Amino acid sequence: MNWYRISTGQFGYPQPEDTYLEETYDLAAGCPTCGIGKALRNAFRFRSEPKAKHSQFLGLNWVFDEVFVRDAVKHVFEEQGVTGVAFTRPVRHSTGEPLETVYHLRVSVILPPALRPDQLDTETCEMPKDPATVKFLTANSSRLVRGPFCGAVKFNYPQENDGQITMPASAFVSAPDIVRMNEWFGSGGSAGRPVLVSQRVKDIVDRMKWRGLMFSPIEIVNE
Ligand SMILES: [Zn+2]
Repeated sequence: MNWYRISTGQFGYPQPEDTYLEETYDLAAGCPTCGIGKALRNAFRFRSEPKAKHSQFLGLNWVFDEVFVRDAVKHVFEEQGVTGVAFTRPVRHSTGEPLETVYHLRVSVILPPALRPDQLDTETCEMPKDPATVKFLTANSSRLVRGPFCGAVKFNYPQENDGQITMPASAFVSAPDIVRMNEWFGSGGSAGRPVLVSQRVKDIVDRMKWRGLMFSPIEIVNE
């Protein structure tokens, strides 16, 4: 049984660029400094229909844990009975009307805590200790030196050939085809829960020759 973390290219910025976090998420559900715990509340607002006509999977800049798909993906996933997903329309910022060429892939099933953290770099939500870092962040009026600090830990996304996400097979027993990890990933003020898909989903994407989705294998261990 294979599982993959998925990611996309980034096209455009969530709107309004200065306040999309407050507009899109319930930030009170989480930490305002590190972003851990924030909960999606409203539809993402796009400036316009995304171009990238040949990509069936797309993402927005700054938003690393949400995937948007073309209509064909919705149709085939539904036809094939892919579980763990729903599809909603993002909206055009200027009008508030639903977009017509893209859906938001909504993933709401969260796995139990299962990550084996051994190989990954982490960040703790706390006042930075390095004076040079503090000076730099202060000069940039960063929230990362103002707090509040919740003390929670997030994992940095592994780069190519640099650490891997390792999880026990037991985490996936009774999981649907598309899930979120329990653990939070990101850096600085950015935090999100990675989306994982089963081999069955990857097979469908490969068979359809859809473009725009990257698959990073999860290392599965038997306890
Ligand atoms: Zn925090």
